[in-house]
Formats: sequence, C-alpha cells, structure tokens
Amino acid sequence: MAFCFRRPAVKKMLSTAASCVGAVAMLGAPLAFAQQPAQLPAPFRAAAPTTNGVIAPDLAARARSLIATALQSDLGYEIVRDLTTEIGPRLAGSEAEARARIWAEARFKALGFTNIRTEPFDVPYWSRVVERARITGPNAQPLVIAALGGSEPTPTGGVEAEIVRFASMAALRAADPAKVAGKIVFIDEATTRTQDESGYGVGVGKRRDCATESQRLGAAACLIRSVGTQHHRFAHQGQQARGQISGGVPAAALSPPDADQIARLLEKGQSVRVNLEIAVEARPAAPSGNVVAEIRGREKPDEMIVIGGHLDSWDSGTGAVDDGAGVGITMAAAKLIADLPQNPRRTIRVVLFGAEETGLHGARAYAERHKAQLAQHIVGAESDFGAGKIWRFDTRFGPESAAKATAIHEILAPLGIARGHNEASGGPDMTFVRAEGVPVVTLQQNGWDYFDLHHTPNDTMDKIKPEDMRQNVAAYAAFVYLVAEMDGDLRK
Ligand SMILES: [Zn+2]
Repeated sequence: MAFCFRRPAVKKMLSTAASCVGAVAMLGAPLAFAQQPAQLPAPFRAAAPTTNGVIAPDLAARARSLIATALQSDLGYEIVRDLTTEIGPRLAGSEAEARARIWAEARFKALGFTNIRTEPFDVPYWSRVVERARITGPNAQPLVIAALGGSEPTPTGGVEAEIVRFASMAALRAADPAKVAGKIVFIDEATTRTQDESGYGVGVGKRRDCATESQRLGAAACLIRSVGTQHHRFAHQGQQARGQISGGVPAAALSPPDADQIARLLEKGQSVRVNLEIAVEARPAAPSGNVVAEIRGREKPDEMIVIGGHLDSWDSGTGAVDDGAGVGITMAAAKLIADLPQNPRRTIRVVLFGAEETGLHGARAYAERHKAQLAQHIVGAESDFGAGKIWRFDTRFGPESAAKATAIHEILAPLGIARGHNEASGGPDMTFVRAEGVPVVTLQQNGWDYFDLHHTPNDTMDKIKPEDMRQNVAAYAAFVYLVAEMDGDLRK
C-alpha cells in the first residue's frame, strides 16, 4: 500500500488506479499470478542467479520458469479431487484400492506418461464390520470410537467391564497386573500439536502397543484417546501393529470429547463401566500393488529420480490429505516437467505405493523388486504429510553434495521455503530405499492442522486449498527437474 500511495514517482509508472491495486495484490500474494502467464513472480525476477555456480544460469532460469508455470496450474488439485470423488476411500487390499490402481493407470496414460504398470503384491486384509461402545449403568451414554487397524474382534454383544485409566503408555507398562486384570484399559494421553510430525511420533506408541500390553496384564480390552489433535467428535483410525490380526485384546480409539467425558466421570471418583463391541473381516492375503509410471530420460534413461505418494487410505474419510494430495502433487509435478520442450536428462519415475497405512507393504515390495536398480536411483522423495504449504527443504545427501543442496534451495526459497537439515527421511515409503543408501529429500509441509483431519471422517477434499497445492507442485517440479538435469552423484 505504501508503495502505491505515498510515493508520487510511482504514479508515473502506474497508468490507472486498477494497476495500482493489482500491484498491491501482487505484493501481498506473490504466488498468485493468474494474469501474466509468461512473467515470473517478482521474487524470482529479483533473485540474483547465483546458485554458487553449481547450477548453470540457463538451467536455473528454466527451473524458475517451471515454478511460474506450476503456480498457474491446478493439475495437482484436479488429480486429488478426481481420485477422492471417483474412487473415494481406498483401504489396503480392498476392492476400492484395486479400482484406484486402474484409475491411476488410466490417468497416467491420459497425461502422457510411459512404462505404466502395476507391480502387484499381497497384503493381509483387515476391515471393521461393527465398532460400538457405550458407558453403561447410571451415566449410560454412547461413545464415538474407531476400532484400531488389526484389532481382534470382541464376542457378539461386546465385552463389558470397568474402566481403569492410565495417563500414558509408560504408566500402563509399569502397572500392577492385579489393578488391570479383567478391566478395560483407558490410556488418556493427548497428542501435542506441532508443525512437523514430532507430536504424532510420540503419541502413536500407545496405538501400537496398547492391545498387546493390556493382554499381558490380563485386561479385557483397551481404549486410547485418539492419536490426533482434533477437537471434533471423530475418533482417529490407525494400525495398531503390522499384520492381519495384530494380537492382544480388542482395541479402539475414543474421540477426544468422549475421552474427556470418561476422564470427568473418573475424576468424580465413581466407577465407569463400558461395553465395547468390535466385529471385523480379516483375510491372510488380499491383492495390493504399486502403480508406476515414467517420464523417460533423454540422456541417462537408466538413472532416475523417484517421487510419489501412497494410493491407499483409511476408510472413514476419502483419503484427501492422506494421501490423495501426495498423489496429485507428484503426478502433476512430473507432468509439468514432461511438458517442457525436451525430456529431462534422467528418468522421472512416479510411484503410487499400495498399502502404506497397514505397514509400508508397498514400500517394502518396491525396494525388494528394484534392489538391483537402486544404485541408479539418484534421489527419492515421497509427499505424505497432507496438502499444507512446503516450508522447509530437508536433504539426505553425501558430504560433497552440500553445495548442490544449497543451490537447489536457492531456487526454491522464493516459494517461502527455508533450508532445513541433512537428515531427511524422504517420507514413509522411502524407508527401505533410504536404508539401501538412496539419497532422499523431504519437502516438509506445514502440518499444524494435519492431525485434526488425518485418519478421521474429516479427511475430505474440502480441506485442500488450491493455492497450497500449486505451491507444492511448483516446489516438487523445480527440485525434481534440477536433480534430473544436474551432473554428479548425490551419494557423495
Ligand atoms: Zn499417509
């Protein structure tokens, strides 16, 4: 505003009031440039093309131009919109996940990708049929729960017992079995809201171990406060441990208001009895698969950059932020690179992993199937942390590649992205290729509200902002394109 109204000299440059308003709008929101397709946003024009001499000026210019194009494209948004609308939730090993693979192959084909295929594998299948809980006795009332993935069923009619509360998983581990035997364990441990996944990382331990630890202590069942940061009355789903039936007692998550309700009743010093009923459908093997597609490299087709998201989701929402967004972001980024006048030097491979939620099955299958090819994987990156804007560029490169990381970051910085650390995970589905020495990148997204939505019925398309998707696609497109074109080995 000050720029337009306080400096008379500027008036000469601005022919009308409308263009003044336009300039203000651009200053306020430098990422939204719908009117000028050929022009780079101001931060990119202003940036001196240094990149420490690591990136050739013409390559840097093409990467900046790719960012400008991506910031005007809604392709990533459209892909996740269509996946979550036409397919909906995509539970690992389900018929819906199979339809999603067919859908993804067709979308890759329509976008001009090559070498499109599904690499199949089997996974244990588990789904809830009944999940019901209620407080019985003088304070009788219903409870909102979600059976934990892999939970044992209860007998028909449910198990009914007195609640015994623990403040944390550690407190349960230290409990006297005599205090727990025959009761329903309630772990009342909240998850800390953080911008990254650190709060979730701590909170998820009770979901993993509650059922087996409760069984060891002779309990009848286990309830946990949802491993989410939401205040709405939905419970947070999630796998308790790997496998078809994980063992232990029947286990479920309570919505936060229901966990509060039980805690308040207990604070009054009275006994609280709960009836919990869970019925499941489980099979030792069901079909899943990774959908793979490529943009073939023009000079080094056997060397590749691998990006992707996971195609499966939990079944209460439509898997929009987890992880339809990652599917849309990475497919769109690769497609924008494919639209350049010539193919990138190296191949760009997009992998849509199957059965991530129930135990990284697709990630393991990919690393095993492509073991002989991993030495030619230049870098890997999965987008699996929602649809919030990227705020940090984390790498896991060799020590000689630090200058490359700095130079790539310099191109990304005007998108509002800070340089992070060199201990990136690369995302859950990069776990096994990273263990084999493949360099990885995490384009860290803002996850402040991610765990309000994640694994709940609220994980739906309306939570995704088109402008945030554009920023994500722009960052992925530029980073992937630069690595595909640059010389050298990021392992060194
Ligand atoms: Zn995910």
